Amino acid sequence: MITGNTLLRSAAPEGREEVRDLLDPSAPGGPDRLFAGAAALKEQAVGLEIYLRGIVEFSNICAKDCLYCGIRRSNRRVERYRMEEDEIIDAALDAYRSGFTSVLLQAGERTDREFIELAERVVRRLKEITSGGIGITLSLGEQEAATYRRWFKAGAHRYLLRIETSSPRLYRRYHPAGHDHALRKRCLDDLRRIGYQVGSGILIGLPGQTADDLAEDVLFLKEMDVDMIGMGPYIPHRDTPLFDRASGFSPGRQLELGLRMIAVCRLLMPDINIAATTALQALSPEGWRRGIRAGANVVMPNFTPARYRAAYSIYEGKPAAGDGADPLAELERLFAGLPEKIVTGRWGDSPRFLKRKMPDTTG
Ligand code: SAH
Repeated sequence: MITGNTLLRSAAPEGREEVRDLLDPSAPGGPDRLFAGAAALKEQAVGLEIYLRGIVEFSNICAKDCLYCGIRRSNRRVERYRMEEDEIIDAALDAYRSGFTSVLLQAGERTDREFIELAERVVRRLKEITSGGIGITLSLGEQEAATYRRWFKAGAHRYLLRIETSSPRLYRRYHPAGHDHALRKRCLDDLRRIGYQVGSGILIGLPGQTADDLAEDVLFLKEMDVDMIGMGPYIPHRDTPLFDRASGFSPGRQLELGLRMIAVCRLLMPDINIAATTALQALSPEGWRRGIRAGANVVMPNFTPARYRAAYSIYEGKPAAGDGADPLAELERLFAGLPEKIVTGRWGDSPRFLKRKMPDTTG
């Protein structure tokens, strides 16, 4: 019988070349074996469960100017918004009461006092209102360690900060002056030290990015010993400088590359949380479902109020999944027939993190 362990021993890639070969869409035989191996290993390491996070994107005002991103500072065509404190809380509670026990609060990057205090109050009030029941992940970009500490004390326990690319050279290519790769990495180190479950990830299939670069990204995430990965295919946005360089863009290729990255990450990091992110679902209505079958175990439907949704336009064609009157029922339909079952009533913390905290219980 093929078990996850034998698969791990026989299939887990070790070096950069092996990882690169698994990512190569032109390799003979297609990706099905890769996906099946990752799914089997996932079953053994984290079980056949799908953890949920309700996303609330509470502001698209951003100090950064990333060349790929639709809410970059220099994009004058996007209408800027910031949700009020009570609106953010209502949206998060809406998710919580629909069975999404964990929420992800995301926004463009700001480091001013008003923003820091708003996020702190929202976290604290959400914990109070739910008697600690809600799990809170923040994705609010690069901040000082003192800010991360304040938010952690207020009750946030996970943080998602994508490194975007592990290569300092590529980072410079996709970001203008004033963006600092080393600082972003230092933020990840700070988050870990403070006690957060740390998620990171990258953009997949950027113009000029090679399979070797992606292999380096996978090895970087493993080296960082992240608890969670949130990564997704790059999707061009017409109001960004990178749009012109993305002329050969193929949604099908991006989707396959995204799925291959999930599978390879699962093979190298069996017991972490890996999200099938919104960009996968933007490329195909089957994106999340296929992501789960390729080794992902987290999905994050959107609970941003409808009137703000369009303005959080990181890329084009962001899907409206999770929109209906009964988002949980909608997800049940989306994943119908899969061996994985949706989990409600638990935070769905990273098994990797729990083991690191309690090493003697590691099985
Ligand atoms: N600024 C916050 C989060 C906002 S954007 C932070 O850094 O944590 C969330 C993610 O969207 C980014 O990390 C980036 O990886 C992704 N993103 C931006 N532009 C994109 C594009 N054109 N296609 C796909 N993903 C994109």
